[in-house]
Amino acid sequence: MLASYVNLCSIVKLSENMSLNQAYLQKYGYLHIPLSAKPLNYRPEELSNALRTFQKTTNLSVSGIFDVATLRMMDKPRCGLEDSGSDETLRYRVMGQWKKKFLTYRIYNFASDLGQGKTRSAIQAAFRYWSEVSPLRFRELYSGKADIKISFHRKEKSCPVPFDGRGHVLAHADAPESGLIHFDADELWTEGRSSGSNLRIVAAHEIGHALGLGHSQYYSALMGPVYSGYRSNFKLHPDDIQGIQALYGKPQSSNPVAPPGGSVPDLCKVKLDAVMLGPKEQTYHFSGQFVWTRSGSAPVLVSALWRGLPGDLNAAVYSPRSDKTYFIKGDKIWRYSGFKIDHGFPRRLSNIPANVDSAFYSNKNKKLIIFCLFQGSGYWQWDEFKPGNFKIYPLLISQLFKGAPSNTDAAMTWTDGSIYLFKGSQFWKVDPNKEKVKGSPENIIGNRWCKTPSQSNSNTSDSVPSADLSSGSCSYSCPCLL
Ligand SMILES: [Zn+2]
Ligand SMILES: [Zn+2]
Repeated sequence: MLASYVNLCSIVKLSENMSLNQAYLQKYGYLHIPLSAKPLNYRPEELSNALRTFQKTTNLSVSGIFDVATLRMMDKPRCGLEDSGSDETLRYRVMGQWKKKFLTYRIYNFASDLGQGKTRSAIQAAFRYWSEVSPLRFRELYSGKADIKISFHRKEKSCPVPFDGRGHVLAHADAPESGLIHFDADELWTEGRSSGSNLRIVAAHEIGHALGLGHSQYYSALMGPVYSGYRSNFKLHPDDIQGIQALYGKPQSSNPVAPPGGSVPDLCKVKLDAVMLGPKEQTYHFSGQFVWTRSGSAPVLVSALWRGLPGDLNAAVYSPRSDKTYFIKGDKIWRYSGFKIDHGFPRRLSNIPANVDSAFYSNKNKKLIIFCLFQGSGYWQWDEFKPGNFKIYPLLISQLFKGAPSNTDAAMTWTDGSIYLFKGSQFWKVDPNKEKVKGSPENIIGNRWCKTPSQSNSNTSDSVPSADLSSGSCSYSCPCLL
């Protein structure tokens, strides 16, 4: 009896919702929309065929009849893209393809409930699902034009396809090589809980579209059209993997798609080889074969900027006195005027041991000082204009700067004479006047480097360099957060 009551009730609802359901089937590609402007009168078999396909796609029992389960399914949160419902093949679909396998992305704004950090890590994790099963590689940009452009917008904003407020359509994306991905800013975006919509999983789905996959007819595939909720152990469906591999191939262990010189570094995780305040007060960061400047410029090959210079440098230092840039690797030293190598370089270093850790220019006594690996704690001082007496070295770093670490990765001098020492994920600031380290080491990611001058709570000697104040932004910046 109960069953028939439910049926009766649902028939009433169904008739009320019939036009809505028809609109759903049209909107998501299950019903063909003729080009003429005539009112649409679908034949009953057209409607029931469309329903059958929808039911099959969404794992419902295939009846061709509107029932409660179908209604509920149509009410679930989903992706705004069509399902290509007329195609009967049960598998992934393809909407396009990028011609390259190394893609950049940029996040223009953030989910208000998650904030910048959690939005960023959810998107990063979403890209990882695809890079793990394909030769595709992704890197986030913080400025400039990226291949994949991610943003959150509401109903009324500039997108030609407005969202619908909280619920139903969660996100939409364009096929290659557009790269647009939009999330509905009215949704409650969450991570780690079943309430709201999980940004990581929905983002992985939309990235699938941006990479060229359409909706799968496997309901449980990531590329299925309906959001199937938060799963703590979420994994791609074999159909998702087959789809992406059909477009881009299988993952290659030797990573041959990366540019020559190895994979482009994740700027937030790299171990720095060298940092220098170079000509025109540009800050250069070196890691492996790559170099990048402040505020998230894309890494380029070291050899693309300084011709003939190898990667994996030990140290880089620019002398404002001579306007020369020195690079040290192994037992060799390179000298450049601007980006042009000076005649006679590289030369062999004869007076200091090979493989120094780092180098910086000291404004105080206008000398180049080289920190050296010698027993992990020694330093050499060298004047670029005078023949040095190297017999007195190494001296102890701890005698030069009290509290300085040994075995540094990189070092640099800022315009105010402050010296920064880098090791692993930390950095130290040295007050050259007091010849000692100021405070405790700080983390490179999320530190005061990345704050604008107004955010810096500091006394005079600790304030953001004056060069920054004029521009109103932090030019001595960590690329990770800008
Ligand atoms: Zn979709
Ligand atoms: Zn949009």
